[in-house]
Amino acid sequence: MQLILMGAPGAGKGTQAAKLVERYKIPQISTGDMFRAAVKEGTELGKAAKACMDEGKLVPDEVTIGIVRERLAKDDCKNGFILDGFPRTVEQADALAEILDEHGKKISCVLNINVPSEYLIERAVGRRICKKCGATYHIKFNPAKGEVCDTCGGELYQRADDNETTMKNRLAAYEASTRPLIDYYKSAGVYKEIDGTQSIEKVTEDLVNVLLSVKE
Ligand code: ADP
Ligand code: ADP
Ligand code: ZN
Repeated sequence: MQLILMGAPGAGKGTQAAKLVERYKIPQISTGDMFRAAVKEGTELGKAAKACMDEGKLVPDEVTIGIVRERLAKDDCKNGFILDGFPRTVEQADALAEILDEHGKKISCVLNINVPSEYLIERAVGRRICKKCGATYHIKFNPAKGEVCDTCGGELYQRADDNETTMKNRLAAYEASTRPLIDYYKSAGVYKEIDGTQSIEKVTEDLVNVLLSVKE
C-alpha cells in the first residue's frame, strides 16, 4: 500500500503514522523527521532546511523532492510506505506521481486528517517528543505518565518550531500551498477524509476502516 497522510501542522499525522506502521508493517516516511535528523547531523541539507523550518516556511521543492526520491528507492519501500508530511505542494505531488510511475507503483489512498485551525496551535505548542525513540506526547491530550518517555525512558523535548509565532506561518503555508492538494487528489479519485478532532484511538479506527476498502 502506498499511503499519503495529509493534514495541517499538528493534525495528528505523526501520531497516526506510528499506529499504521505497527499495523501494516510498512515504513513511515516523514520529511519533517528527515530534515530534523539532517539539522542534528549538521549536513548541508540540514543547514538549508533549518532556516526555513525555524521560520515556519516550506523547504524548497527541489530539495524536498530530492530526499524523497532517494528514500523511496530503498528496499524497505518495496511493499509500500506511509508518506507523512509529503507532498505539501502541487509541484511535490506531480514529482511523486513521476517517481511512483518509475517504480511501477501508484498511490493507493490519500488520507486527510481534517482538523479545523482553531485546534492546531494548542496541539503543536503542547507537543512533546522523546529524544531517544521519537514517540509523540501532548502535555494535555496525551501526556506521558512521568517526566520521561513511557516506553524508553528518554528525555522529552519541545520542537523549536512548536511555538505560536512559527505555527502562524506554518498554518499560512498550509493554506496557501498544501490545501490545494485536496482537490488535486479528489480529482485523482484517491482522496479520503477523516475527522481528526476525535480521540487518537477513534481516528486510528476510522483510518483502518477506510483502508479496509482500499485496493493495493
Ligand atoms: P502532525 O504530525 O500532524 O504535526 P502529531 O501527530 O505530532 O501531528 O500531533 C500533534 C500533537 O497533537 C501531539 O502532541 C499529539 O500528541 C497531539 N494529538 C495527536 N492526535 C490527537 C488527537 N486526536 N486529539 C488530541 N491530540 C492529538
Ligand atoms: P508538522 O506537520 O507538524 O508541520 P513536519 O515535521 O511535517 O511538521 O514539518 C516541519 C517543517 O519541516 C515544516 O514546517 C517545513 O519547514 C519542513 N517540511 C516538512 N515536510 C516538508 C515538505 N514536504 N515540503 C517542504 N517543507 C517541509
Ligand atoms: Zn521514547
